[in-house]
Amino acid sequence: MTTILILGGGTGGVVAANVLRRTLGKEHKIVLLDRKENYNYASSYPLLMLGKRKPGQISKKLQRLSRKAINVIKCEVESVSPQEFKVHTDKGSLEYDYLITSPGVEHHPEAVPGFREIAYNVYDLEGNISLSNRLKTFREGKIVIFISSLPFSCPTAPYEMAFLLDDYFRNQGLRGKIEIILVTPEPYPEPLAHPSVGDSIRKMMKKLQIGLFTEAKVLSLDPGRGTLLLDHGITLEGDLFLGIPPHWGPSFLAGSGLLDENGWLEVDPHTLETRNKRIYGIGDATSLRLPVTRVLAPKAGVFAHFEAEVVARNLASLIQGKKGDFRYTGKGV
Ligand SMILES: Cc1cc2nc3c(=O)[nH]c(=O)nc-3n(C[C@H](O)[C@H](O)[C@H](O)COP(=O)(O)OP(=O)(O)OC[C@H]3O[C@@H](n4cnc5c(N)ncnc54)[C@H](O)[C@@H]3O)c2cc1C
Repeated sequence: MTTILILGGGTGGVVAANVLRRTLGKEHKIVLLDRKENYNYASSYPLLMLGKRKPGQISKKLQRLSRKAINVIKCEVESVSPQEFKVHTDKGSLEYDYLITSPGVEHHPEAVPGFREIAYNVYDLEGNISLSNRLKTFREGKIVIFISSLPFSCPTAPYEMAFLLDDYFRNQGLRGKIEIILVTPEPYPEPLAHPSVGDSIRKMMKKLQIGLFTEAKVLSLDPGRGTLLLDHGITLEGDLFLGIPPHWGPSFLAGSGLLDENGWLEVDPHTLETRNKRIYGIGDATSLRLPVTRVLAPKAGVFAHFEAEVVARNLASLIQGKKGDFRYTGKGV
């Protein structure tokens, strides 16, 4: 019997668990660990923000996986000891034969002074629930969407939010009274894609009169004045601030020897193996460079999904005594 621990019940972890369960016999144990009770579908947060989805429509209980003989444990993972093949949690330690880590990113709004006081965190469920209530009565003023730092998950999401807000207020006949601007440290929209993508987004924004500030370094927000402070002494006033908080790699893995110098999981771009052959890393927590182009993979669910498939299929083959020859090719569509 083999025990596979999966750390993280988000996109990567859930796909890995499902593929493994489909390909491996029940004699092998699949255990999924997450601090949360629910899987939340973040791609629908922009619709939640506009009141077009309810929280219950975009969340599912992770325990539902237990019907498929996937053991789900709600716990906080505190550290990993690769030499002992152990994961330490607030509910005790667990041993593994193989470990798949897909813990996503850590959000640190507190790293931007004033963020928690006046900005809505549009990258979490609660932030979007509060914002959807606020938008119901927002009739005029300036909306500032800002990206605190790079990298951040789903590079399209802030642009999608700006376009959706434009449409939302246009439909209510209020667009003339509402200014929308987007502030980003990126040199242009979507720099991980072909430059023509950024170019067409820029043109669409211009046409819809959505302001764009590029190469902006966010320093702080001033709750008293209702301003966003950028470097070079630039101050932007706003009535509603929608923030994407700084993203950090998995700090509980510090000391495990699995992280690169920037705190992200270092993985082989083809097999997703970490420096330790029994541990795999997938999803947003990795600093994966795409095969061939060597460009950093965008932190997006579509990438996590296909990475998880490769890892799960290879592991299932290895456990069944076959060669694990599935390779990640950079698929993310
Ligand atoms: C607003 C928004 C819109 C998006 N839209 C899209 C889109 O349209 N298309 C797309 O492809 N992607 C989109 N994404 C990105 C996508 O959601 C992520 O890329 C994807 O979820 C990453 O999967 P993951 O498995 O790496 O991490 P996650 O899905 O974040 O899962 C990580 C899990 O690990 C758990 N965890 C972490 N640390 C611990 C610990 N120490 N102990 C216990 N549990 C822990 C967390 O609770 C979490 O459940 C969007 C993201 C956002 C925020």
